[in-house]
Amino acid sequence: MIKLASPHISDHAIEKVGEILRSGNLVQGEYVRAFETQLEEYLKIDHVVVVSSGTAALHLSMVALGIGPGDEVIVPAFTFPATANAVALVGAKPVFVDINLDDFCINPALIDAAITPMTKAIMPVHEFGQSADMDPILEIARKHELFVIEDAACALGTEFQGKKAGTLGDLGCFSFHPRKAITTGEGGVVATNDSGLARKISALRNHGMENNMRKIDFPYAGFNYRMTEFQAVLGIYQLRDLEKFIDQRTMQAKAYDDMFIEAEWISTPKIFPDRRHVYQTYHLIVERNYSRDNIIKTLKKKGIETNIGAYFVPATKYYSENSSFLGTLFKNSKQSFLNGIALPVGTHLSAMDIKKIANKLISCAE
Ligand SMILES: *Cc1c(COP(=O)(O)O)cnc(C)c1O
Repeated sequence: MIKLASPHISDHAIEKVGEILRSGNLVQGEYVRAFETQLEEYLKIDHVVVVSSGTAALHLSMVALGIGPGDEVIVPAFTFPATANAVALVGAKPVFVDINLDDFCINPALIDAAITPMTKAIMPVHEFGQSADMDPILEIARKHELFVIEDAACALGTEFQGKKAGTLGDLGCFSFHPRKAITTGEGGVVATNDSGLARKISALRNHGMENNMRKIDFPYAGFNYRMTEFQAVLGIYQLRDLEKFIDQRTMQAKAYDDMFIEAEWISTPKIFPDRRHVYQTYHLIVERNYSRDNIIKTLKKKGIETNIGAYFVPATKYYSENSSFLGTLFKNSKQSFLNGIALPVGTHLSAMDIKKIANKLISCAE
């Protein structure tokens, strides 16, 4: 079976994880801080707080910004449900906006109409490792004095006009789940240039605790969203390989693009000259009269694992019962969900595998 994704963890990293496990210093030591410093350098940002998951990063962002009951946050209708869940979990209302079909990210032209006096923030998602169109989003946010929280869970290394995704808004959230380009098992990070927010998030991650000149106090009701030392050291080794992983994914994406040129029923991901796509997921759209589910089943029989790319969140059970979006069509989000397929990419695949996957998919049309 060719797997959709499979993390690549070096023997070196495994050795180092073992060393930490044997040392007994499992939490709150030097490796979490070292991982943070390296991420700050990589992202070219002032502050980074590593946490236990991408969802924890999103949740902490909401809490740190004081978003809660009575507030609204604008989110794309096509994403992983964790984006909207972070908003719902603090008692605020996610307001769904449709996406563009060319980047699978929120359509900035539709944001203005979704803004109400209750709107507090816009949460664009850099879906599949492609950057959202950030210029108009930041412009709208400035105009209406809204926060921008980037869900960059899939987008470590993604760039918009030469700047790293996740560093353009007030807060950027990343994930280190095994499906992402680098992994710590479970893990996440919040990035920001705001030292006040960084301090608050750092306290909220650790029971709300602050340590001022050795005087410990608890100014917030916090969580335990800490990352362990052995996860952080794994992250340090993974980060060293990140650019290599991205280069390989980019080559694989190019190979898929080339192989699908003749297949008119397949739309491949668009390349924008001012954005860097890291292909956390290679997501394509098949024409309406092809059943995505049948294609996934057929490929599985041929030994290839593929998957749904992301979800049409307003139609999931929770949001269809707990939010009103009647009257909005979300045409592109629906189509991306119903006709979207994620193909395998990653270090576990050879050039031959990519050819085989592409050929088997093309033969689904026959
Ligand atoms: C993976 C993902 C998340 C959640 O990250 P976890 O680390 O699994 O909690 C959130 N948003 C998006 C867009 C994701 O792809």
